[in-house]
Parts: sequence; structure tokens; C-alpha cells
Amino acid sequence: MNCFTLIAPNDEEERMDDTNENIPNKNQTPKPPPIFIQVQINFNNFCIKIKELTDSSGFDCKSSTNKLKLQTYSADSYRSVINYHKENNVSFHSYQSKELKTFRAVIRNLHPTTDLSLIKKELLNSGFTTRNIMPVFHKLTKTPLPIFFIDLEPGPTNADIFKITSLCYMIVKIEPAHPKRDIPQCHRCQTRGHTRSYCNHTPRCVRCGLDHESLHCTNDHSSPAKCALCNGSHPANYKGCKTYTDLIKKLAQSKNNMWNNKNKHHHTSNVINHNLPPPTDSQNFPPLNSESNPHSQTNNQNQNLDLTIQLSSFINDLKTLINPLLSLLTTVIDKFIKNGN
Ligand SMILES: [Zn+2]
Ligand SMILES: [Zn+2]
Ligand SMILES: [Zn+2]
Repeated sequence: MNCFTLIAPNDEEERMDDTNENIPNKNQTPKPPPIFIQVQINFNNFCIKIKELTDSSGFDCKSSTNKLKLQTYSADSYRSVINYHKENNVSFHSYQSKELKTFRAVIRNLHPTTDLSLIKKELLNSGFTTRNIMPVFHKLTKTPLPIFFIDLEPGPTNADIFKITSLCYMIVKIEPAHPKRDIPQCHRCQTRGHTRSYCNHTPRCVRCGLDHESLHCTNDHSSPAKCALCNGSHPANYKGCKTYTDLIKKLAQSKNNMWNNKNKHHHTSNVINHNLPPPTDSQNFPPLNSESNPHSQTNNQNQNLDLTIQLSSFINDLKTLINPLLSLLTTVIDKFIKNGN
């Protein structure tokens, strides 16, 4: 179903830089999104200013090579820091606040001609306020499908929508939407990993790479494109751009590392199992052939255990081989489909 999820407009935010968003804040309420400041600063002066702008909930910072991550701990602090930086034209980006984030779900088996206003009204009667309802079309044939994406206004009981089994006189299934697989690209500064709604970096043109909004480009469209990210002769949204392929590789690498770590864990548990007494299943379910002597039975069990260990290690090896192949295949198919369009 991934080809459908890509069609639906997606305003979900990727939080690639935000590695510890799940750590509860000092007051145990959801903390505001981090703010990434990408400009040379004097940290002492910066701290004095941020202290002025934030309330008693405080703030903290994390410095990396080319940016500073500023974490505030209250909505008021977040707003005043954002406003101050906007007013002073500071180059920064942030993300959509979790509280403002809509709740996305998929309705399946709902007839494609169902009136959107009727869906909205019925959901409202059940206590769910929709912000968007989006019909889904087949990616290749463009025929309408009996699938709708819905975005609900933030609310504590939104997950109850999955309990709904009938809507507009139809038996339906409502499920969580799969997160978007693609990395978002900012239409303002062209950097990947955040979106323009939360970007205050200098605008860069997607086509000519110069410092202006893409819409205001006055360069001749017949002149060759120049990438704002790598200076290559392609538009900044070209998926063959080295900055994009490097990012994909980096993400794949970190996924791979995660997988390998999990695998190591599995191997360890196999070793532990090896030292455990043989399974007692044979006592609960004695073999049908009662003539076999107890000694050979234990022997068989040990052989079976060895075979199981060999098999599971073989399967693990196979998995590490197959996963990169699968992702390669997905990329090839994606490209093939795009070329087909
Ligand atoms: Zn941006
Ligand atoms: Zn331009
Ligand atoms: Zn490029």
C-alpha cells in the first residue's frame, strides 16, 4: 500500500536531527520542538538573550559543527524565541509542535464516490473533527480507490477512531496511516530534513541555486540548472544529487547498524539456549514409537537442538543478505515506475 501513501499530501514533519524527542521534559508535559540555529554566534551573548526570552522552565543547547540545537521547555519560551529570531532574520529551522500535529488515519472499503462532506459530518457526530479528507487514487491508472486519508484535529481520544466499523452506510476498516518514507525537502532553503513552514534560513532557488525564492527566479529557464546543495548542474530537488544519495546511504547505514545490533543479540541468546537443558516437550508429548530407548532419544534431541541452532544462524545470515537486496529492488522499481509516468 506504500504507493498509495505517497500520493496523499503529507504535512508530517520528519525530525531527523531530533534524537531525544521521547525523553520527557522537566515538567512531564510534551516539550516544544527543538530550534536549530545555523549562524555564527557568541555563545555568552546568545545565552544572555535566550535567558531574557525564556521563562523559569529554562532551556538547554547542543552544539554541532554547523548548527546549534536549542531546546526550550515551555510553549511560551518557544514562541518568544521563534518570534525574536524571525524578527531579527536569524537563519534557523524548527519542526511542527506535536500538539499541533494532526492525527492521520486511513479509511478502507469506503466507496470512492462517497461525499466528503458526509464523511466529515458522520465523523463529527462520532466526536472526531477532521481537518482534511483526501480520496486516494491508484498511482498508475489514477482510478479512485475505496480508500481515504483523514487528518483529525489534535485530540486525546483520536485513536478511538480505529474502533469505528461502519461509516456512511458502509462496513469500513480504519487503520493508522503508514509514515511517509521519503525525506522531506524544504521548499524555502532546499535542505532536506525539514519543511518550509518551520524554516527561516535564507531562501535558495531550486533551479538556479541563488539566494531567492524559487517562484521569483528571473533566470532564463533554458539556462542550465545549478544545485543549491552541491553546485552540480541539476535542480536542487534532483534525487540523483550527491547530497541526497549520501543522506540515503547514511540512513541505510544507521538502519543496518541497528539491525546488526539486534542480530548480535539473537546470537547471544542462541548461545545461552545451548547451555539450557534439552526441551521437555518429549516428556509432555512422548514419541509414538515406545520401543526407542531413552538414550537415543536424548541424542536425537541434542541433534535437533544443534540443527535448530545451525538453521537459525543460517536464517540470520540469509536475512542480512536479503535486506540490502530488497531495498535495492525497491529503488529500482520506484525508478521504473517514475520513468513509466
Ligand atoms: Zn529550510
Ligand atoms: Zn533562481
Ligand atoms: Zn546537487
